[in-house]
Amino acid sequence: MIDFKQYNNFEPILEHYEKFDFDNYFKNVTDKDIEKSLNKKKLDEFDFLNLLSHKAGNYLEEMAVVSHKNYMQHFGKVIGLYIPIYISNYCSSDCAYCGFSKKNKIKRKHLTKVEIENEAREIAKTGIKHILLLTGEAKKIANLEYIKMAVEVLKKYFSSVSIEIYPLDTNDYKELKKIGVDGLTVYQEVYDKNIYKKVHTSGEKANYLYRLNTPERGAKANFRAINIGVLFGLGDIQKEAFFSGIHAKYLMDKYLECEISLSLPRINQAEGSFKPKSNLDNKTFLQIMLAYRIYMPTIGINISTREKASFRDNLIGLGVTKMSAGSKTDVGGYEGIDASTPQFDISDNRNVEEIVKVIKQKGYQPVFKDWELI
Ligand code: SF4
Repeated sequence: MIDFKQYNNFEPILEHYEKFDFDNYFKNVTDKDIEKSLNKKKLDEFDFLNLLSHKAGNYLEEMAVVSHKNYMQHFGKVIGLYIPIYISNYCSSDCAYCGFSKKNKIKRKHLTKVEIENEAREIAKTGIKHILLLTGEAKKIANLEYIKMAVEVLKKYFSSVSIEIYPLDTNDYKELKKIGVDGLTVYQEVYDKNIYKKVHTSGEKANYLYRLNTPERGAKANFRAINIGVLFGLGDIQKEAFFSGIHAKYLMDKYLECEISLSLPRINQAEGSFKPKSNLDNKTFLQIMLAYRIYMPTIGINISTREKASFRDNLIGLGVTKMSAGSKTDVGGYEGIDASTPQFDISDNRNVEEIVKVIKQKGYQPVFKDWELI
């Protein structure tokens, strides 16, 4: 078991586990190991591995009971809601799996201040107060001043503004924090360095280590919330789930004042012809989500509209803390005027009202706002 707090960054922890023989470990996990891990109050990395093993796939009911208990104890019967706004889909990087990749001949759009305000006004009608601002990685077009302008507009309509943009230095994050940004989402996409290199061939995103340390730079800038994750389908599913989990645990242990959460995006249809290396099926998706919740009882878990409606509905109560709702992944999509090509296809096309209805029917409280910028 590693004491995460003694490290200055995540890199040495990653390097330590890169040498680990996962296949051999998973092969030797026994029923007794899994039962023991499920009954522990404080789990270590090996318990987490036990819960991610193929054998633990036979323990989903038992895992769901523990996960539900942890969830109820730390969060109660609530589901937070958030909504994304894409303001620019220009990109100077080439990610093999993404519709916005610079190589794709798609309809590009970069919203003006007036257009951002129109979108914001439209989104605000849903009542959701948490917005996630997204851009492609085109630092010259969607530069820091542009992002700041967008934040100032969004602040008029929303009480919480998070960003999912290209990685920045700590000082830039501090500037954004100062004007009201409170959350940062950044996915490593894939922790396996060889695969990372293959799917990120050019542009700033090709810099693996700079991206790896991005969540920590955000935590150092004192963002209230940091959300990380991998894009399932790029690498080995169990190993990637493990690395994303221990990365989150490292951040949680070190930055106590910061809310750390994990997302579980899996590859969806996008512009281009990318074929995933692995397919994350629903059962394994659930197992990973439960393993995250049991290993880290206070972790936030976000589920986006990449997932189908019925699947998302069934996850309520099993550990999810936040869901996106009514999302559009094209720039200008809410106004629907001259919209651009979406980043990926959405699977849950219900509007906010419909999603709220389901959350209530299940006996949970949808939360539109839990943060106020002062
Ligand atoms: S994932 Fe991000 S950086 Fe990569 S092509 Fe898409 S928008 Fe650009």
